[in-house]
Amino acid sequence: MNVHDSERISGLLEQAGYVRAVPADDTPDIVVFNTCAVRENADNRLYGNLGRLRPVKDKHPGMQIAVGGCLAQKDRGEIVRKAPWVDVVFGTHNIGSLPVLLERARHNAAAEVEILESLDVFPSTLPTRRESTYAGWVSISVGCNNTCTFCIVPALRGKEKDRRPGDILSEVRALVDEGVLEVTLLGQNVNSYGVEFGDRYAFGKLLRACGDIDGLERVRFTSPHPKDFTDDVIAAMAETPNVCHSLHMPLQSGSDDVLRAMRRSYRSERYLGIIEKVRAAMPDAAITTDIIVGFPGETEADFQRTLDVVREARFSSAFTFQYSKRPGTPAATMDDQLPKQVVQERYERLIETVEEITWAENKRLVGETVEVLVAVGEGRKDERTGRMSGRARDGRLVHFATDTADGESLADQIRPGDIVHTTITYAAPHHLNADGAPVAHRRTRAGDAAEAGRSPRTPGVLLGLPTIGAPPVVAAPTAGCATH
Ligand code: SF4
Repeated sequence: MNVHDSERISGLLEQAGYVRAVPADDTPDIVVFNTCAVRENADNRLYGNLGRLRPVKDKHPGMQIAVGGCLAQKDRGEIVRKAPWVDVVFGTHNIGSLPVLLERARHNAAAEVEILESLDVFPSTLPTRRESTYAGWVSISVGCNNTCTFCIVPALRGKEKDRRPGDILSEVRALVDEGVLEVTLLGQNVNSYGVEFGDRYAFGKLLRACGDIDGLERVRFTSPHPKDFTDDVIAAMAETPNVCHSLHMPLQSGSDDVLRAMRRSYRSERYLGIIEKVRAAMPDAAITTDIIVGFPGETEADFQRTLDVVREARFSSAFTFQYSKRPGTPAATMDDQLPKQVVQERYERLIETVEEITWAENKRLVGETVEVLVAVGEGRKDERTGRMSGRARDGRLVHFATDTADGESLADQIRPGDIVHTTITYAAPHHLNADGAPVAHRRTRAGDAAEAGRSPRTPGVLLGLPTIGAPPVVAAPTAGCATH
């Protein structure tokens, strides 16, 4: 979500006439920090970076610094108190105001802080400068109606707001028209999509509607919540040819007591039940997850239950996190916070079990031919090994050799965004290698765009550029706005 917001910020600024700074060039005129409060130490890192920029700004009159995102939503005016050289602070609900705020701060020679309490305009209606020529994020909803006790998202992103299906599909079509082959539908909880307009089957219908879009080869989504997962979504995944058989479904803990304390209202049995149904409908499905270890009050028995679920679920990969307090969340003030060394030791055991499983799952693919969507710069070793990289349909990372059986290198012909079929020869816990000759290579429009250096842009709704002295184009909030 945060990465996609950054694409919108770039798109907005470009539409307002700004040009992206080239790293080797002189000092940029504007620096925007898009912060994420989910990460640990986000505030230390932000203030550290702001501190480093202060002397740069002193030497470069007119330079502007803006801070947006979740941390800005949380800290608000605090940011300009701690770092008075910051020009603009904007929140998660009013990304669209950034050009106006920069202009106003410049005109008034004073910091502008604007934080809205709720969404001003659905973010995907803003112009977007996409980073990838072949894959794009498309927001279907923002915010979340759940109240997981470790999570700061509901406090900072607000209640769930669903975007109309027609708007979503138009954006997907616009991306495909620009050559994009893969779309990831994005929401904090995609399974509750439709709650706002009263259709609990809306997400499955949306997946099926994506199946009707010519030229769209891969549809993914993140993240579903096990609580709201309905069977029609599994059927839609299985029956819609362009929907990838990959499912990222956060588990967080295998212990029902911990899930209760996390206020996640499914239990491990339900979670495993969904996986069973997914595998019955799509035996080749790759299932990935998020797990938090060391939640307050987690016992050794609770932790063992998590290991049991990991073994039963047979994940193809897992994002594992050590619990750490996020100020402002209920879990931060819970009793029974665990000592760091206990969390660390469990975390290491969890990684060991996860890798054992993911490696075994990956090994099952050796000898299989997979379809790879070629990526830019995935895997740092590529240059040294002469391989290229990309993602298989099930989301697995594949490094593949580019020499034909005759020893001719195809490296110059295969572009990011092209499709390659290749046979897996080796499996590691986190990736696959294909060291034989590629079985097939298909040039795509996404590859043409990559070669031409074009990135897709979706124009969004024009917000217009204010002129100095004119009233701001973006409507002022009705309540709770700290503007000065
Ligand atoms: S469902 Fe996800 S975004 Fe919503 S509160 Fe829980 S962890 Fe946070």
